Amino acid sequence: MAEYDLVIKGGRVASTDGVAAMDVAIQDGVIAALGRELRARSTIDAAGRLVLPGGVDAHCHIEQLSGGGLMNADTFESATRSAAFGGTTTVISFAAQHRGDNLGAVVDNYARLAAAGAVTDYAFHLWISDPSAETLEQDLPRLIEAGHRSIKIFMTYDRVRLLDEQILDVMMVARRHGAMVCAHAENHGMIKWMADRLVARGYGAPKYHGVSHPRVGEIEAFERLIRFSQLLDQPIMLFHVSTAEGAAIVRRARGEGVKVFAETCPQYLFLTAHDLDRPGLEGAKWMCSPPPRTPSDQEALWRGLDLGDLQVVSSDHAPYRFDGSGKLAAGSNPDFKQIANGLPGLETRLPLLFDAMVSRGRSSLEKFVELTATAPARIYGLHPRKGAIAVGADADVAIWDPDREVVLTDDGLHDNVGYNPFAGRRLKGWPETVLRRGETLVADGTLKAAPGSGRLQRRGCSPAMRPTGRLSPEFDPGRNFGAQLL
Ligand SMILES: [Zn+2]
Repeated sequence: MAEYDLVIKGGRVASTDGVAAMDVAIQDGVIAALGRELRARSTIDAAGRLVLPGGVDAHCHIEQLSGGGLMNADTFESATRSAAFGGTTTVISFAAQHRGDNLGAVVDNYARLAAAGAVTDYAFHLWISDPSAETLEQDLPRLIEAGHRSIKIFMTYDRVRLLDEQILDVMMVARRHGAMVCAHAENHGMIKWMADRLVARGYGAPKYHGVSHPRVGEIEAFERLIRFSQLLDQPIMLFHVSTAEGAAIVRRARGEGVKVFAETCPQYLFLTAHDLDRPGLEGAKWMCSPPPRTPSDQEALWRGLDLGDLQVVSSDHAPYRFDGSGKLAAGSNPDFKQIANGLPGLETRLPLLFDAMVSRGRSSLEKFVELTATAPARIYGLHPRKGAIAVGADADVAIWDPDREVVLTDDGLHDNVGYNPFAGRRLKGWPETVLRRGETLVADGTLKAAPGSGRLQRRGCSPAMRPTGRLSPEFDPGRNFGAQLL
């Protein structure tokens, strides 16, 4: 009988065939066998433990200049360290093009930063805020073909937003070359108009940030982008769905056959607008965009996840310290317009969801794995290497103690942020040993892998990224001049 490098013995394993007791054998960083009585040169005892695929966090901002022009608190080293302690082994962050930047140079720069610092594996969404001819005709096609198979566009934020016709340009390049288009979809005019009026009338406290992002702003932008997707037959991913109406729009569009995917985040499942309502500037710690909404939105989002209308839960980790380097960069008395949006979540995403879905029984272990690892890997072209425990997949494994109780605290995380928006919560279930390509990332509460040991993941064109083939009649090559428009 073969002797493998490593066997994880005696755990309950969530594999692609369901959850069952078995051993997982690892050879050369890859899962080599699943079964019983597998022999290896070294063994991890997983009795009483759950053996799950490492998480795939498909939305996080790392070592990045924000839409508002402020640098994140986290480097690739600190962010991916934090991810690893939370059971995540692959992250997709952003190669953020700002206006005037050459996209190729942007990607090279982020790749260099990640190669030096990352402990998890990683990939990049191509963030486009300057869709020049050079970007659209040269850099974007080349980068997509090189395996950067997702694009991020913004419908709001002055410094990064695209106009409708620019969004269509980007979507058409994605269609031609095979990439997912991900969007921050909120109506820019509504937000700007609301925010300006609120601040002018003296409503500048952090809680009014939530008021300045009206629900209908999400509804309008979702509808608009879905119709763009319909016009061009280009798949889209709506990032961070925050409202019940948003989830309902996604459901209806999918029913119409539009290829729309959707994500939500722990802040929309576990926080509400009330969390921003604190004395002084304290509420700034909970400011993110879109803002957390109401308990009934939370329920609608959970239902959307159950029904499959929403497929992915990502962190949208956007780290800023609560000091002059981050949230308070505009001084000690800013209005909400001057405060960076975003909160940390790479490390808490999986434990928060595990506690709610598995420990408290809202859903199943299989569904937890699907939302946090398998679905994002499939949609973003990381499958079959990532996102599942299966023979031939990378040995990215998180071994969970389902009974371990942890009370979250402000100083308990491994990022550079210095607070935890979920502090005070008691969670049951925590990842205790984490492997990436068979190498120990985290064990005994300690980081074991070196900065820079993570690898860039070149991604293929996934089924999710492919057009349906049902083009709008305007583009029908058999009619009029349609084909010339493509
Ligand atoms: Zn984001």
